[in-house]
Amino acid sequence: MVHRCWINGEEREGEWRYPLVDPSTGEVFAEVAGAGMDLVHGAMEGAGKAFPGWRSLSVHERARVLRAVARSIRSGADRLARLLSREVGKPLSSALDEVLSAASVFDYFAEEASRMSGRIPLLGMDREHVLILREPIGVVLAITPFNYPLSTLSAKVAPALAAGCTVVAKPDEHTPASTLEVARLAAQAGLPPGVFNIVLGDGPVTGRAAVSHPLPRLVTFTGSTTVGKEIQRACADRVKRVVLELGGNCPAIVCGDAPWRDLMPQLVAQCYKNSGQYCYRISRLYVAGGILEAFLDELVRQSEALRLGPPHEATTDLGPLNNAEILTRVERQVQEAVSGGAELRSGGGGVRPRTPGFYYPPTVLVDRHRSSGIRFEEVFGPVVVVIPFDGPEEALEDANASPYGLAGYIFTRDLALALHLVGKLEVGSIWVNRIHQAYPEVPFGGMKESGLGREKSGYGLEEFTELKSVYLSY
Ligand code: NAD
Repeated sequence: MVHRCWINGEEREGEWRYPLVDPSTGEVFAEVAGAGMDLVHGAMEGAGKAFPGWRSLSVHERARVLRAVARSIRSGADRLARLLSREVGKPLSSALDEVLSAASVFDYFAEEASRMSGRIPLLGMDREHVLILREPIGVVLAITPFNYPLSTLSAKVAPALAAGCTVVAKPDEHTPASTLEVARLAAQAGLPPGVFNIVLGDGPVTGRAAVSHPLPRLVTFTGSTTVGKEIQRACADRVKRVVLELGGNCPAIVCGDAPWRDLMPQLVAQCYKNSGQYCYRISRLYVAGGILEAFLDELVRQSEALRLGPPHEATTDLGPLNNAEILTRVERQVQEAVSGGAELRSGGGGVRPRTPGFYYPPTVLVDRHRSSGIRFEEVFGPVVVVIPFDGPEEALEDANASPYGLAGYIFTRDLALALHLVGKLEVGSIWVNRIHQAYPEVPFGGMKESGLGREKSGYGLEEFTELKSVYLSY
């Protein structure tokens, strides 16, 4: 099987090839035909030529196509979920959830587009009005990571198309298949050729070529903070707009009065979601000293009960990590944490199953003296660091000391304390006393080195537009 770029509504042969490796076996299962400068240029030109036609459709017509895309994704959901599960390594049920949630994001932006409007301020001038118009920004470059290929894709492509922009997407080099399948389904649903194009390849070749191309007016990127900073610097050259959804290192503060035994299944799920390859997952658990030992015993018990296995087996809770590089990085980070003074309470590289896939077990570290650097690093694997605290201010200070500011979690029965912590925690999203799905109606994004701009909601849609002020005398 060879995956090829998708440009102007058809497959295009690549300029070079590389193998795709199955995370659960370590074996090659497909090939990718990658894009260099020529194909990237072809995709950008296709998107540029399609832009005038797409932007001049009525918003209702664009919304009709987006709803048809959502239906088409749902009708192809089983195949999409299998592709996603295999290329990422995530259990089939989680892959299916991701596919259905991507479809609902297309539906949501079909509606949200019709709520977008400009303004006419009440200036009170005689025979004069100022019209504040909104226009689509133009060609959009969407670069996505391997961990949630379709959630991240839909959060970019659906609002871009809804606003009247055309798109060139570059999925992660390890996970091209599900994104290509969405493009095919979108074409079947009636999306005109050139409106949504895909270039395949890695960051250094294809990604850089796309970012440096003069045509895109906006680069919307989800990935690591290091690459996000590089993209922001490259975009400065042509003053392109950037939306950056970057790394996370999310704290949860569990106070002594929280019903932590009832909460434990939610906490455990949020620590290890997607085998820990999830930017919003809990990676630091600040736990009140009075409940620490009982909390740790239960956390370890529930962590060790999770079943590691191949993504296609129904009994699997955690699949493998996506690739060998991530596995090596997680192993190194845990070893360094232990050398830095953290106690390995459960899991770790020593109990890694002896299989050829990239498996790593749920791992609990305890950093009693806040001596280990791991609490401020992003660990993209199933590793949680437990840090005891005496008073909530102490937990807050350490939680905010991280360079990241994506999300946080607060658990206490004292709502006044919770609201005080909400006001002080430097993050873009906070869950208080319960962890539930993020909704398309709610802005999504981080502070500090976790990102710039917001996705989802009306705010996320506005990122794909420019304002134009018209001074009108009559
Ligand atoms: P990554 O930054 O290595 O790669 C992400 C994408 O960028 C891939 O498509 C890659 O090919 C491309 N890329 C790499 N170098 C590039 C370059 N120089 N120019 C242009 N493109 C380039 O990230 P990753 O390791 O694949 O993904 C994990 C990261 O993504 C984590 O840091 C995670 O926190 C973050 N993430 C953030 C969110 C969020 O919403 N904030 C969501 C998912 C993932």
